[in-house]
Amino acid sequence: MSEREDLVLAYRILAARGVVDAYGHVSLRTAKNPNRYLLARAMAPELVTADDILEFDLDSNPVKDTQVALYLERYIHGEIFKSRSEIKAVVHNHSPSVIPFGVTTVPLRPLFNTGAFIGEGVPTFEIRDFQESGDLIIKTPYLGHSLATTLGAKPAALMRGHGAVVVGESLMLAVVRSVYLELSAKLQMQAMLIAGPDANIVYLDDAEVAAISGRQAFAGTWKRTWDLWCIKARAQIEMEQRAKRPKASFPVKAGADRRRSRVG
Ligand SMILES: [Zn+2]
Repeated sequence: MSEREDLVLAYRILAARGVVDAYGHVSLRTAKNPNRYLLARAMAPELVTADDILEFDLDSNPVKDTQVALYLERYIHGEIFKSRSEIKAVVHNHSPSVIPFGVTTVPLRPLFNTGAFIGEGVPTFEIRDFQESGDLIIKTPYLGHSLATTLGAKPAALMRGHGAVVVGESLMLAVVRSVYLELSAKLQMQAMLIAGPDANIVYLDDAEVAAISGRQAFAGTWKRTWDLWCIKARAQIEMEQRAKRPKASFPVKAGADRRRSRVG
């Protein structure tokens, strides 16, 4: 698999898992040159193919001249790659269950093992700390850098009234974290609803977070999940490619014609 093909799978998986809809994007730092990254042209994630993937420098300029539309928020990726040399992939999404935690003072907390990384901390980016009230879009290098500063060394940050950014030391890790950030937010809201305002919810403690998220980051824990999602994404892509191929035309026998006319 090439890096472009891997990135296409990441786009498709995020779309299939409801983390991105027509918006949102995922990038991959290139192995050959750590000062470059791959990102799709501006389009719905579910439709991305390898031909739609472009290469950017860390100032988020396309390496080759292109006439295609680019994501306005590509600076999220370039500025995080600049500030975090260990990070190989960045996801920006408008993950629906995550949004409420970005607009309230209720913190996201780790409550099940696949969401343990949340216990490492998920800060909230308040764009009004960096500019006057506006459209909330990260459309300048300055805003991208500000978001990267809020993210700091954490695995994810919420963006108030907008979505989230999630990073990983691999493409797999960034995608898996994005999926489980969405699921964990949903589960936390359900737990809070069941528990009521004064009831106790048992979250993971710091030792559990350290034990689980350390193992998940480095020991290939996610491979089973990743392989399953990749198989499904490839099957979807193959189905689309088959549908695009011209239909083979077969000569119709006279007998077959007569049979058809009797039926219809
Ligand atoms: Zn956005």
